Amino acid sequence: MPTVEPHDPLAPPVPAPVAAPGPDLSVLEAVAVELDEVEAALARLDDGTYGVCTACGASLPDDVLAADPLARHCPAHAGPAAAPSAPPAAPPAAP
Ligand SMILES: [Zn+2]
Repeated sequence: MPTVEPHDPLAPPVPAPVAAPGPDLSVLEAVAVELDEVEAALARLDDGTYGVCTACGASLPDDVLAADPLARHCPAHAGPAAAPSAPPAAPPAAP
C-alpha cells in the first residue's frame, strides 16, 4: 500500500470519500404506507367501523383480523391487490 505525502505537489488529488449509502428509500416508503394503514385502522376503531368490510359492510372474520389486523375487506372482497405478498405469476420466458 503506497503512502502519499499530504503536501506532495505531484500527488494525485485525494478522491472524496464515497458517501455512505443512505437508508433504502423503498423500505421507508413501505413503512410509511404501513403507518398510514395503521392510522387508518385506528381511525376505524374511533368511528366504530373497525373489523367491517369497507366494500360490503360485513364483519370481518376473526381469523382474517388475526392474520391481518389492518384488514379492511372480507375474504369475498379481498382482491389480489389486498393479498399480502402474491406477485402475479410470470409467464415462462419464451425461448
Ligand atoms: Zn366484503
